Amino acid sequence: MKKNKIFIKSYGCQMNVYDSNRILDLFKNQDYEIADDPKDANLVVLNTCHIREKAAEKVYSDIGRINKIKKNKPRENFKIVVAGCVAQAEGEEIKSRAPSVDFIVGPQSYHKLPDMLKTKDSIMTDEFTQNEKFKNLLYNSAGGVSEFVSIQEGCDKFCSFCVVPYTRGPEFSRPVNEIIIEIQKYLNQGVKEIIFLGQNVNAYHGIGKDGKSKDLAYLINKVSELEKLKRIRYMTSHPSDMRNSLIKVHKTNTKLMPFLHLPVQSGSDKVLKDMNRKHDVYFYKKIVEQLRNERPDIALSSDFIVGYPGESDRDFDDTMKFVNDINFVIAYSFIYSQRPGTPAQKKDNIPISEKKARLSALQSLLKQQQKNYNKSFVGQKMEILFEKKGRHKDQYIGRSVYNQSVFTKSESNLINKITNAKIISSTNFSLESSV
Ligand code: SAM
Ligand code: SF4
Repeated sequence: MKKNKIFIKSYGCQMNVYDSNRILDLFKNQDYEIADDPKDANLVVLNTCHIREKAAEKVYSDIGRINKIKKNKPRENFKIVVAGCVAQAEGEEIKSRAPSVDFIVGPQSYHKLPDMLKTKDSIMTDEFTQNEKFKNLLYNSAGGVSEFVSIQEGCDKFCSFCVVPYTRGPEFSRPVNEIIIEIQKYLNQGVKEIIFLGQNVNAYHGIGKDGKSKDLAYLINKVSELEKLKRIRYMTSHPSDMRNSLIKVHKTNTKLMPFLHLPVQSGSDKVLKDMNRKHDVYFYKKIVEQLRNERPDIALSSDFIVGYPGESDRDFDDTMKFVNDINFVIAYSFIYSQRPGTPAQKKDNIPISEKKARLSALQSLLKQQQKNYNKSFVGQKMEILFEKKGRHKDQYIGRSVYNQSVFTKSESNLINKITNAKIISSTNFSLESSV
């Protein structure tokens, strides 16, 4: 029996989920097991997100709740750690606003956390030592069918609304060989699908065996040689890094799923310029056209920000028109949130009621597109990879090649199986199949 218990909560993006799994690996390798509730733990790690104000503020209310648990525990036997991007951006502020926090560790330093707990150093941020971090992590599958693999981190693009270049540091790509070793470990543990992660995953330029820089298309083709690997996905991509080689791989590589998350943020050239996005609407549409030429069924997803400083009614109308032109299968949309230290921070000038009205209009359009898309599969057969049990008896949940959630009933265990199943109904957010 292990002596200690760790509880970890992940906020925000998949990169944080990946980091949280790596933190758990490090502690499971020591005298720790996982607690499902902070009350049962003696180490609580909050792996935080700084992308929007709401996400960052939630951390402080969670710390308040956890501090109540801490007060009922022996002082030496309960530690609170704030990790991730809020730790990186607000280290000193956390110390003064939340003195109950014992340790603060940034996203590029968490590999040092087990050692840090043995010292009196309470704060470790600033250093962007991605190379050292990845070399010091353990890579154990969380036990599922699908695993995230971080291949690229950080960003040099400096969109004027975004904190990522400040919290995650400059762009860094892991060497091809290290990535393959990590994937092989997961495959030997039963994983069938990997999802490459990066803040700008398609800017990947890791070093290959021959010492030369390799792009994402090369990496996809290389890992698809691994026989046990059945599916490959990648996210999040930036339009200006969508090279021809990558577009072509969508046609030639059968393990690469026909789904692409390609954030655009706005359908107005004026807003894109103000955002320092480095691409315009025409450029984005050209990429979509090329992708659809190579892989006509490719499913497209995106991110949008509404109410960016200076966004006029006309700019917003351009976004709605753009969505109508492209037809997304799913998309995420957010009200612009002012972030400290970013160039856009001081200009926020649109009333919140207007921002909310625009968000609601955009989301209903996107929801309608998603609903229509899902409906178009009813009656067809699709290849589904089943991942887990559902809430109901004999229910299983899987993913279609287009990344839709698919529910099905079966008396035999479907987990980890790839099956061709007939779609019998659809909702806004999912499909139902019979096997
Ligand atoms: N690198 C990706 C790209 O360039 O598209 C995006 C990564 S970011 C972690 C995820 C999404 O958060 C962005 O696409 C954007 O829509 C949203 N986001 C980032 N900063 C934001 C802000 N200040 N307010 C609202 N949404 C924001
Ligand atoms: Fe943020 Fe993406 Fe822009 Fe980089 S490219 S600054 S991660 S939105």
